[in-house]
Amino acid sequence: MADVKELIDLLKGKITKKEEDFIKKAYKFAEQAHIGQRRLNGEPYFSHVFETAKLLGKLRVGVNTIVAGLLHDLLEDTKVNEAELEKEFGKDVLFLVKGVTKLGTLKYRGHERHIESLRKFFVAMADDIRVLIIKFADRLHNLRTLSSLREDKRQRIAIESIEVYASLANRLGMGKLKGALEDAAFPYAYPKEYAQVAEIIREKEAIYKKSLAEVRAELIRQLRKNKIKFTEIDYRVKHKYSLYRKLLKYNMDLDKIYDIVALRVMVKTVAECYKVLGIVHSIWKPLPGRIKDYISLPKPNGYRSIHTTVFTGPTGVAEIQIRTEEMHAEAAYGIAAHFAYKEKDNKKTHDKKSGLKWMQELKNLNYVPENPEEFIKHLKMDFFNNRIFVFTPKGDVIDLPEDSSPIDFAYSIHSDIGDHISGVKVNGKMTQIFSNLRNGDIVEIMNKRDCHPSSKWLEHTKTSVAKKHIRNYLEQNTLLSKLKSFGTK
Ligand code: MN
Repeated sequence: MADVKELIDLLKGKITKKEEDFIKKAYKFAEQAHIGQRRLNGEPYFSHVFETAKLLGKLRVGVNTIVAGLLHDLLEDTKVNEAELEKEFGKDVLFLVKGVTKLGTLKYRGHERHIESLRKFFVAMADDIRVLIIKFADRLHNLRTLSSLREDKRQRIAIESIEVYASLANRLGMGKLKGALEDAAFPYAYPKEYAQVAEIIREKEAIYKKSLAEVRAELIRQLRKNKIKFTEIDYRVKHKYSLYRKLLKYNMDLDKIYDIVALRVMVKTVAECYKVLGIVHSIWKPLPGRIKDYISLPKPNGYRSIHTTVFTGPTGVAEIQIRTEEMHAEAAYGIAAHFAYKEKDNKKTHDKKSGLKWMQELKNLNYVPENPEEFIKHLKMDFFNNRIFVFTPKGDVIDLPEDSSPIDFAYSIHSDIGDHISGVKVNGKMTQIFSNLRNGDIVEIMNKRDCHPSSKWLEHTKTSVAKKHIRNYLEQNTLLSKLKSFGTK
Protein backbone atom coordinates (compact mmCIF):
# COMPACT_ATOMS: atom_id res chain seq x y z
CA MET A 1 0.00 0.00 0.00
CA ALA A 2 1.25 3.43 -0.86
CA ASP A 3 2.18 5.68 2.02
CA VAL A 4 2.88 9.39 1.67
CA LYS A 5 5.69 8.98 4.21
CA GLU A 6 7.83 7.21 1.59
CA LEU A 7 7.69 10.35 -0.52
CA ILE A 8 8.21 12.78 2.36
CA ASP A 9 11.22 10.78 3.58
CA LEU A 10 12.90 11.20 0.20
CA LEU A 11 12.72 14.96 0.64
CA LYS A 12 13.66 15.14 4.33
CA GLY A 13 15.61 18.24 5.14
CA LYS A 14 15.04 19.71 1.72
CA ILE A 15 11.48 20.96 2.12
CA THR A 16 9.65 23.19 4.58
CA LYS A 17 6.71 22.10 6.72
CA LYS A 18 4.41 24.09 4.47
CA GLU A 19 5.73 22.29 1.40
CA GLU A 20 5.31 18.97 3.15
CA ASP A 21 1.66 19.78 3.82
CA PHE A 22 1.21 20.78 0.20
CA ILE A 23 2.51 17.39 -0.94
CA LYS A 24 0.27 15.57 1.55
CA LYS A 25 -2.73 17.49 0.31
CA ALA A 26 -1.98 16.51 -3.30
CA TYR A 27 -1.48 12.92 -2.23
CA LYS A 28 -4.92 12.73 -0.62
CA PHE A 29 -6.56 14.58 -3.49
CA ALA A 30 -5.13 12.23 -6.13
CA GLU A 31 -5.81 9.12 -4.10
CA GLN A 32 -9.43 10.15 -3.72
CA ALA A 33 -9.86 11.04 -7.39
CA HIS A 34 -8.36 7.79 -8.69
CA ILE A 35 -10.30 5.62 -6.27
CA GLY A 36 -11.60 2.42 -7.83
CA GLN A 37 -9.39 2.75 -10.93
CA ARG A 38 -7.00 -0.06 -11.67
CA ARG A 39 -4.10 -0.52 -14.01
CA LEU A 40 -3.75 -3.45 -16.44
CA ASN A 41 -1.58 -5.28 -13.94
CA GLY A 42 -4.35 -5.08 -11.35
CA GLU A 43 -2.67 -2.50 -9.14
CA PRO A 44 -4.62 0.54 -8.01
CA TYR A 45 -4.15 3.38 -10.51
CA PHE A 46 -2.99 5.67 -7.75
CA SER A 47 0.15 3.56 -7.30
CA HIS A 48 1.28 4.76 -10.74
CA VAL A 49 1.03 8.47 -9.96
CA PHE A 50 2.57 7.90 -6.54
CA GLU A 51 5.58 6.06 -7.97
CA THR A 52 5.92 8.79 -10.60
CA ALA A 53 6.06 11.40 -7.82
CA LYS A 54 8.66 9.35 -5.95
CA LEU A 55 10.87 9.17 -9.03
CA LEU A 56 10.56 12.94 -9.30
CA GLY A 57 11.54 13.26 -5.65
CA LYS A 58 14.74 11.37 -6.42
CA LEU A 59 15.46 13.61 -9.40
CA ARG A 60 15.86 16.69 -7.23
CA VAL A 61 13.09 18.70 -8.77
CA GLY A 62 11.01 21.28 -6.95
CA VAL A 63 7.88 20.75 -4.87
CA ASN A 64 5.42 21.99 -7.50
CA THR A 65 6.84 19.48 -9.95
CA ILE A 66 6.41 16.64 -7.44
CA VAL A 67 2.85 17.76 -6.70
CA ALA A 68 2.11 17.92 -10.43
CA GLY A 69 3.52 14.39 -10.65
CA LEU A 70 0.90 13.20 -8.17
CA LEU A 71 -1.82 15.02 -10.10
CA HIS A 72 -0.58 14.35 -13.62
CA ASP A 73 -3.30 11.96 -14.76
CA LEU A 74 -6.26 13.71 -13.14
CA LEU A 75 -7.41 15.83 -16.08
CA GLU A 76 -7.27 12.92 -18.47
CA ASP A 77 -8.56 10.06 -16.36
CA THR A 78 -10.88 11.50 -13.70
CA LYS A 79 -13.70 13.99 -13.30
CA VAL A 80 -11.43 16.63 -11.79
CA ASN A 81 -11.37 19.76 -13.93
CA GLU A 82 -8.92 22.61 -14.47
CA ALA A 83 -10.77 25.12 -12.29
CA GLU A 84 -10.71 22.73 -9.36
CA LEU A 85 -7.01 22.02 -9.78
CA GLU A 86 -6.18 25.70 -9.91
CA LYS A 87 -8.29 26.48 -6.86
CA GLU A 88 -6.64 23.75 -4.78
CA PHE A 89 -3.05 23.84 -6.05
CA GLY A 90 -2.51 27.13 -7.84
CA LYS A 91 -1.64 28.35 -11.32
CA ASP A 92 1.83 26.85 -11.58
CA VAL A 93 0.74 23.31 -10.72
CA LEU A 94 -2.21 23.57 -13.10
CA PHE A 95 0.15 24.76 -15.82
CA LEU A 96 2.35 21.70 -15.30
CA VAL A 97 -0.51 19.18 -15.24
CA LYS A 98 -1.98 20.73 -18.36
CA GLY A 99 1.40 20.59 -20.04
CA VAL A 100 1.76 16.89 -19.30
CA THR A 101 -1.78 16.18 -20.50
CA LYS A 102 -1.22 18.15 -23.70
CA LEU A 103 1.98 16.33 -24.45
CA GLY A 104 -0.04 13.12 -24.43
CA THR A 105 1.58 9.96 -25.55
CA LEU A 106 4.50 10.48 -27.82
CA LYS A 107 4.81 7.72 -30.27
CA TYR A 108 7.73 6.50 -32.25
CA ARG A 109 6.25 5.17 -35.45
CA GLY A 110 8.79 5.78 -38.14
CA HIS A 111 9.99 8.89 -39.76
CA GLU A 112 6.98 11.18 -39.87
CA ARG A 113 5.64 10.44 -36.43
CA HIS A 114 9.15 10.68 -35.16
CA ILE A 115 9.51 14.27 -36.25
CA GLU A 116 6.09 15.05 -34.90
CA SER A 117 7.12 13.63 -31.52
CA LEU A 118 10.27 15.66 -31.47
CA ARG A 119 8.45 18.77 -32.44
CA LYS A 120 6.07 18.31 -29.54
CA PHE A 121 9.01 17.65 -27.29
CA PHE A 122 10.87 20.73 -28.43
CA VAL A 123 7.88 22.91 -27.86
CA ALA A 124 7.16 21.41 -24.45
CA MET A 125 10.80 21.70 -23.53
CA ALA A 126 11.02 25.33 -24.43
CA ASP A 127 7.74 26.02 -22.68
CA ASP A 128 8.83 24.58 -19.38
CA ILE A 129 11.36 21.84 -18.91
CA ARG A 130 9.56 20.59 -15.81
CA VAL A 131 6.70 19.26 -17.95
CA LEU A 132 9.19 17.10 -19.76
CA ILE A 133 10.75 15.82 -16.56
CA ILE A 134 7.32 14.73 -15.26
CA LYS A 135 6.76 12.97 -18.56
CA PHE A 136 10.12 11.19 -18.16
CA ALA A 137 9.21 9.94 -14.68
CA ASP A 138 5.75 8.88 -15.90
CA ARG A 139 7.34 6.92 -18.72
CA LEU A 140 9.96 5.34 -16.50
CA HIS A 141 7.33 3.97 -14.16
CA ASN A 142 5.27 2.71 -17.10
CA LEU A 143 8.37 0.93 -18.42
CA ARG A 144 8.94 -0.72 -15.08
CA THR A 145 5.41 -2.10 -15.15
CA LEU A 146 5.35 -3.12 -18.80
CA SER A 147 5.20 -6.85 -18.24
CA SER A 148 1.39 -7.00 -18.25
CA LEU A 149 1.16 -5.57 -21.77
CA ARG A 150 1.07 -7.52 -25.02
CA GLU A 151 4.48 -8.37 -26.41
CA ASP A 152 4.31 -6.28 -29.58
CA LYS A 153 3.02 -3.29 -27.65
CA ARG A 154 5.74 -3.68 -25.04
CA GLN A 155 8.40 -3.65 -27.69
CA ARG A 156 7.04 -0.58 -29.41
CA ILE A 157 6.90 1.36 -26.15
CA ALA A 158 10.36 0.18 -25.17
CA ILE A 159 11.95 1.22 -28.47
CA GLU A 160 10.29 4.61 -28.43
CA SER A 161 11.49 5.11 -24.87
CA ILE A 162 15.06 4.56 -25.98
CA GLU A 163 14.80 6.54 -29.22
CA VAL A 164 12.86 9.52 -27.96
CA TYR A 165 12.79 9.77 -24.19
CA ALA A 166 16.24 8.51 -23.21
CA SER A 167 17.90 10.44 -26.03
CA LEU A 168 16.35 13.64 -24.84
CA ALA A 169 17.19 12.96 -21.21
CA ASN A 170 20.77 12.54 -22.38
CA ARG A 171 20.66 15.78 -24.29
CA LEU A 172 19.54 17.49 -21.10
CA GLY A 173 22.46 15.97 -19.24
CA MET A 174 20.23 13.82 -17.06
CA GLY A 175 22.51 10.80 -17.02
CA LYS A 176 20.76 9.01 -14.22
CA LEU A 177 17.40 9.23 -15.89
CA LYS A 178 18.79 8.32 -19.29
CA GLY A 179 20.45 5.20 -17.85
CA ALA A 180 17.32 4.23 -15.95
CA LEU A 181 15.05 4.66 -18.99
CA GLU A 182 17.37 2.69 -21.25
CA ASP A 183 17.93 -0.13 -18.82
CA ALA A 184 14.20 -0.44 -18.09
CA ALA A 185 13.41 -0.53 -21.81
CA PHE A 186 16.32 -2.66 -23.01
CA PRO A 187 14.94 -6.15 -22.10
CA TYR A 188 11.66 -5.43 -23.94
CA ALA A 189 13.18 -3.61 -26.89
CA TYR A 190 15.91 -6.14 -27.69
CA PRO A 191 15.40 -9.26 -25.54
CA LYS A 192 18.16 -11.42 -27.06
CA GLU A 193 20.80 -8.71 -26.95
CA TYR A 194 19.77 -7.85 -23.43
CA ALA A 195 20.31 -11.44 -22.26
CA GLN A 196 23.75 -11.42 -23.89
CA VAL A 197 24.85 -8.18 -22.26
CA ALA A 198 23.44 -9.15 -18.86
CA GLU A 199 25.51 -12.31 -19.04
CA ILE A 200 28.68 -10.38 -19.89
CA ILE A 201 28.15 -8.03 -16.96
CA ARG A 202 27.47 -10.94 -14.62
CA GLU A 203 30.73 -12.56 -15.67
CA LYS A 204 32.91 -9.49 -15.70
CA GLU A 205 31.67 -7.42 -12.79
CA ALA A 206 33.21 -9.55 -10.05
CA ILE A 207 36.49 -9.98 -11.92
CA TYR A 208 36.87 -6.28 -12.58
CA LYS A 209 35.96 -5.28 -9.07
CA LYS A 210 38.57 -7.66 -7.72
CA SER A 211 41.35 -6.23 -9.89
CA LEU A 212 40.19 -2.68 -9.24
CA ALA A 213 40.29 -3.24 -5.49
CA GLU A 214 44.10 -3.15 -5.58
CA VAL A 215 44.10 -0.05 -7.74
CA ARG A 216 41.69 1.58 -5.33
CA ALA A 217 43.79 0.73 -2.27
CA GLU A 218 46.98 2.05 -3.88
CA LEU A 219 45.27 5.23 -5.02
CA ILE A 220 43.88 5.89 -1.54
CA ARG A 221 47.40 5.47 -0.08
CA GLN A 222 48.87 7.94 -2.57
CA LEU A 223 46.11 10.49 -2.17
CA ARG A 224 46.56 10.44 1.61
CA LYS A 225 50.31 10.77 1.20
CA ASN A 226 49.74 13.84 -0.98
CA LYS A 227 47.14 15.20 1.45
CA ILE A 228 44.32 15.26 -1.07
CA LYS A 229 40.94 14.95 0.51
CA PHE A 230 38.63 12.82 -1.57
CA THR A 231 34.97 12.52 -0.71
CA GLU A 232 34.49 9.20 -2.40
CA ILE A 233 36.32 6.49 -4.33
CA ASP A 234 33.95 3.91 -5.64
CA TYR A 235 33.16 1.58 -8.52
CA ARG A 236 30.58 2.33 -11.07
CA VAL A 237 29.28 -0.45 -13.31
CA LYS A 238 28.36 0.56 -16.82
CA HIS A 239 24.67 0.67 -17.66
CA LYS A 240 23.65 -2.38 -19.67
CA TYR A 241 22.24 -0.52 -22.64
CA SER A 242 25.23 1.79 -22.97
CA LEU A 243 27.53 -1.23 -22.85
CA TYR A 244 25.45 -2.74 -25.64
CA ARG A 245 25.82 0.43 -27.76
CA LYS A 246 29.54 0.37 -27.19
CA LEU A 247 29.81 -3.32 -28.08
CA LEU A 248 28.01 -2.59 -31.35
CA LYS A 249 30.49 0.18 -32.07
CA TYR A 250 33.42 -2.18 -31.52
CA ASN A 251 31.94 -5.15 -33.40
CA MET A 252 31.10 -6.92 -30.15
CA ASP A 253 34.80 -7.09 -29.25
CA LEU A 254 34.82 -7.07 -25.46
CA ASP A 255 38.59 -6.55 -25.28
CA LYS A 256 38.23 -3.02 -26.67
CA ILE A 257 36.03 -1.92 -23.80
CA TYR A 258 37.83 -0.77 -20.69
CA ASP A 259 35.08 0.79 -18.69
CA ILE A 260 32.63 -1.98 -17.85
CA VAL A 261 33.62 -1.21 -14.31
CA ALA A 262 35.41 2.07 -13.62
CA LEU A 263 36.83 3.64 -10.52
CA ARG A 264 35.32 7.00 -9.67
CA VAL A 265 37.13 9.54 -7.54
CA MET A 266 35.31 12.55 -6.16
CA VAL A 267 37.07 15.59 -4.75
CA LYS A 268 36.11 19.11 -3.70
CA THR A 269 37.70 21.37 -6.28
CA VAL A 270 38.65 21.45 -9.94
CA ALA A 271 42.31 22.00 -9.04
CA GLU A 272 42.23 18.79 -7.03
CA CYS A 273 40.82 16.92 -10.02
CA TYR A 274 43.99 17.72 -11.98
CA LYS A 275 46.19 16.90 -9.00
CA VAL A 276 44.54 13.50 -8.74
CA LEU A 277 45.09 12.98 -12.48
CA GLY A 278 48.78 13.75 -12.00
CA ILE A 279 49.03 11.29 -9.13
CA VAL A 280 47.22 8.59 -11.07
CA HIS A 281 49.60 8.99 -14.00
CA SER A 282 52.63 8.97 -11.75
CA ILE A 283 51.58 5.58 -10.36
CA TRP A 284 50.32 3.98 -13.57
CA LYS A 285 51.11 4.72 -17.21
CA PRO A 286 48.14 6.04 -19.16
CA LEU A 287 46.99 4.40 -22.37
CA PRO A 288 47.73 6.87 -25.18
CA GLY A 289 44.67 8.56 -26.57
CA ARG A 290 42.47 7.61 -23.66
CA ILE A 291 42.84 10.73 -21.51
CA LYS A 292 39.63 12.70 -21.82
CA ASP A 293 39.40 16.07 -20.17
CA TYR A 294 35.71 16.88 -20.19
CA ILE A 295 36.33 19.53 -17.55
CA SER A 296 38.07 21.93 -19.89
CA LEU A 297 36.04 20.63 -22.84
CA PRO A 298 32.60 19.57 -21.57
CA LYS A 299 30.40 17.34 -23.69
CA PRO A 300 27.61 19.11 -25.60
CA ASN A 301 25.13 18.08 -22.91
CA GLY A 302 27.25 19.71 -20.23
CA TYR A 303 28.92 16.55 -18.87
CA ARG A 304 32.13 17.31 -17.02
CA SER A 305 34.70 14.85 -15.65
CA ILE A 306 38.21 13.61 -16.35
CA HIS A 307 38.54 10.07 -17.69
CA THR A 308 41.79 8.21 -18.06
CA THR A 309 42.65 4.58 -18.73
CA VAL A 310 45.85 3.28 -17.17
CA PHE A 311 47.97 0.14 -17.32
CA THR A 312 47.80 -1.42 -13.88
CA GLY A 313 49.92 -4.48 -14.48
CA PRO A 314 51.24 -6.76 -17.23
CA THR A 315 47.78 -7.18 -18.76
CA GLY A 316 45.45 -5.13 -16.63
CA VAL A 317 43.92 -1.80 -17.54
CA ALA A 318 41.54 0.35 -15.53
CA GLU A 319 39.45 3.39 -16.28
CA ILE A 320 39.51 6.09 -13.63
CA GLN A 321 37.04 8.97 -13.61
CA ILE A 322 37.78 12.11 -11.62
CA ARG A 323 35.28 14.85 -10.82
CA THR A 324 33.96 17.21 -8.17
CA GLU A 325 30.74 16.57 -6.27
CA GLU A 326 29.09 19.37 -8.14
CA MET A 327 30.01 17.81 -11.49
CA HIS A 328 28.74 14.51 -10.23
CA ALA A 329 25.35 15.96 -9.31
CA GLU A 330 25.17 17.64 -12.70
CA ALA A 331 26.05 14.45 -14.56
CA ALA A 332 23.30 12.63 -12.71
CA TYR A 333 20.57 15.24 -12.66
CA GLY A 334 21.58 17.49 -15.52
CA ILE A 335 19.29 20.36 -16.06
CA ALA A 336 17.26 19.45 -12.97
CA ALA A 337 20.33 20.09 -10.80
CA HIS A 338 20.23 23.71 -11.86
CA PHE A 339 16.89 24.44 -10.33
CA ALA A 340 16.71 21.88 -7.55
CA TYR A 341 14.46 23.19 -4.83
CA LYS A 342 14.62 26.70 -6.17
CA GLU A 343 11.32 26.65 -7.91
CA LYS A 344 9.90 30.07 -8.53
CA ASP A 345 6.53 31.13 -9.81
CA ASN A 346 8.22 32.63 -12.80
CA LYS A 347 8.96 29.65 -14.96
CA LYS A 348 11.21 31.68 -17.23
CA THR A 349 13.91 31.71 -14.60
CA HIS A 350 14.58 28.03 -15.16
CA ASP A 351 15.79 28.45 -18.70
CA LYS A 352 18.18 31.19 -17.71
CA LYS A 353 19.60 29.25 -14.82
CA SER A 354 20.12 26.20 -16.93
CA GLY A 355 22.25 28.13 -19.36
CA LEU A 356 20.89 26.03 -22.17
CA LYS A 357 20.15 28.78 -24.58
CA TRP A 358 19.37 26.45 -27.43
CA MET A 359 16.16 25.45 -25.68
CA GLN A 360 14.82 28.94 -25.88
CA GLU A 361 15.82 29.14 -29.48
CA LEU A 362 13.97 25.97 -30.25
CA LYS A 363 10.82 27.44 -28.85
CA ASN A 364 9.70 28.61 -32.19
CA LEU A 365 10.33 26.08 -34.90
CA ASN A 366 8.84 28.32 -37.53
CA TYR A 367 11.57 30.78 -36.81
CA VAL A 368 13.52 32.00 -39.85
CA PRO A 369 17.14 32.22 -38.81
CA GLU A 370 18.66 35.68 -39.06
CA ASN A 371 21.82 34.56 -37.41
CA PRO A 372 22.33 30.99 -38.63
CA GLU A 373 25.78 30.65 -37.00
CA GLU A 374 24.41 31.33 -33.54
CA PHE A 375 21.51 29.03 -34.20
CA ILE A 376 23.68 26.20 -35.44
CA LYS A 377 26.16 26.55 -32.62
CA HIS A 378 23.41 25.78 -30.16
CA LEU A 379 21.95 23.05 -32.22
CA LYS A 380 24.73 20.54 -31.97
CA MET A 381 22.24 17.90 -31.20
CA ASP A 382 23.07 14.30 -30.79
CA PHE A 383 19.66 13.04 -29.91
CA PHE A 384 20.02 9.90 -31.88
CA ASN A 385 23.06 7.90 -32.57
CA ASN A 386 23.88 8.24 -36.23
CA ARG A 387 21.07 10.65 -36.92
CA ILE A 388 21.38 14.28 -37.90
CA PHE A 389 18.80 17.04 -37.80
CA VAL A 390 18.71 19.56 -40.56
CA PHE A 391 16.31 22.39 -41.15
CA THR A 392 14.37 23.84 -44.02
CA PRO A 393 14.67 27.63 -44.35
CA LYS A 394 11.29 27.79 -42.64
CA GLY A 395 12.59 25.88 -39.65
CA ASP A 396 11.02 22.49 -40.24
CA VAL A 397 13.13 19.71 -38.85
CA ILE A 398 14.18 16.87 -41.13
CA ASP A 399 15.98 13.97 -39.57
CA LEU A 400 18.40 11.99 -41.71
CA PRO A 401 21.08 9.37 -41.28
CA GLU A 402 24.59 10.69 -40.71
CA ASP A 403 26.50 11.67 -43.89
CA SER A 404 23.32 12.31 -45.82
CA SER A 405 23.56 14.70 -48.76
CA PRO A 406 21.33 17.54 -49.92
CA ILE A 407 19.84 14.98 -52.34
CA ASP A 408 18.59 12.91 -49.41
CA PHE A 409 17.22 16.06 -47.87
CA ALA A 410 15.37 17.05 -51.05
CA TYR A 411 13.76 13.65 -51.47
CA SER A 412 12.69 13.49 -47.88
CA ILE A 413 10.68 16.64 -48.47
CA HIS A 414 9.11 15.59 -51.76
CA SER A 415 10.02 13.40 -54.71
CA ASP A 416 9.27 16.26 -57.09
CA ILE A 417 11.78 18.46 -55.29
CA GLY A 418 14.37 15.69 -55.43
CA ASP A 419 13.76 15.00 -59.10
CA HIS A 420 14.54 18.59 -60.14
CA ILE A 421 17.46 19.74 -58.00
CA SER A 422 19.45 22.45 -59.73
CA GLY A 423 21.49 23.64 -56.77
CA VAL A 424 21.64 23.86 -53.01
CA LYS A 425 22.41 26.42 -50.36
CA VAL A 426 23.65 25.17 -46.99
CA ASN A 427 23.57 27.80 -44.26
CA GLY A 428 23.09 30.44 -46.90
CA LYS A 429 26.08 29.40 -49.06
CA MET A 430 26.00 27.67 -52.42
CA THR A 431 27.21 24.10 -51.87
CA GLN A 432 27.82 20.92 -53.86
CA ILE A 433 24.78 18.67 -54.00
CA PHE A 434 27.10 15.74 -53.26
CA SER A 435 28.38 17.23 -50.00
CA ASN A 436 27.66 15.76 -46.59
CA LEU A 437 25.15 17.56 -44.43
CA ARG A 438 25.84 18.17 -40.77
CA ASN A 439 23.68 18.41 -37.74
CA GLY A 440 21.96 21.78 -37.53
CA ASP A 441 22.51 22.71 -41.18
CA ILE A 442 19.88 24.85 -42.81
CA VAL A 443 19.32 23.56 -46.31
CA GLU A 444 17.64 25.28 -49.21
CA ILE A 445 17.05 23.30 -52.39
CA MET A 446 16.72 25.08 -55.72
CA ASN A 447 14.71 23.49 -58.48
CA LYS A 448 14.61 23.74 -62.26
CA ARG A 449 12.17 21.75 -64.34
CA ASP A 450 14.85 20.66 -66.79
CA CYS A 451 17.26 19.34 -64.14
CA HIS A 452 17.12 15.60 -63.51
CA PRO A 453 18.81 12.83 -61.50
CA SER A 454 21.80 10.96 -62.87
CA SER A 455 23.09 7.54 -61.87
CA LYS A 456 25.94 9.27 -60.04
CA TRP A 457 23.41 10.51 -57.49
CA LEU A 458 22.99 6.98 -56.20
CA GLU A 459 26.57 7.02 -54.85
CA HIS A 460 25.83 10.14 -52.85
CA THR A 461 22.64 9.17 -51.11
CA LYS A 462 22.05 7.42 -47.83
CA THR A 463 18.30 7.13 -47.56
CA SER A 464 16.32 4.40 -49.23
CA VAL A 465 13.62 6.86 -50.17
CA ALA A 466 16.08 8.90 -52.26
CA LYS A 467 17.60 5.82 -53.88
CA LYS A 468 14.17 4.50 -54.78
CA HIS A 469 13.09 7.71 -56.49
CA ILE A 470 16.37 8.09 -58.35
CA ARG A 471 16.18 4.51 -59.63
CA ASN A 472 12.55 5.05 -60.63
CA TYR A 473 13.47 8.13 -62.57
CA LEU A 474 16.44 6.49 -64.29
CA GLU A 475 14.41 3.45 -65.29
CA GLN A 476 11.56 5.45 -66.71
CA ASN A 477 13.94 7.72 -68.46
CA THR A 478 15.93 5.01 -70.22
CA LEU A 479 12.66 3.45 -71.24
CA LEU A 480 11.47 6.78 -72.53
CA SER A 481 14.63 7.50 -74.49
CA LYS A 482 14.52 4.03 -75.99
CA LEU A 483 10.96 4.66 -77.06
CA LYS A 484 11.94 8.06 -78.43
CA SER A 485 14.87 6.74 -80.43
CA PHE A 486 12.60 3.97 -81.63
CA GLY A 487 10.10 6.55 -82.82
CA THR A 488 12.68 8.56 -84.73
CA LYS A 489 13.87 5.60 -86.75
MN1 MN B 1 0.77 8.61 -16.15
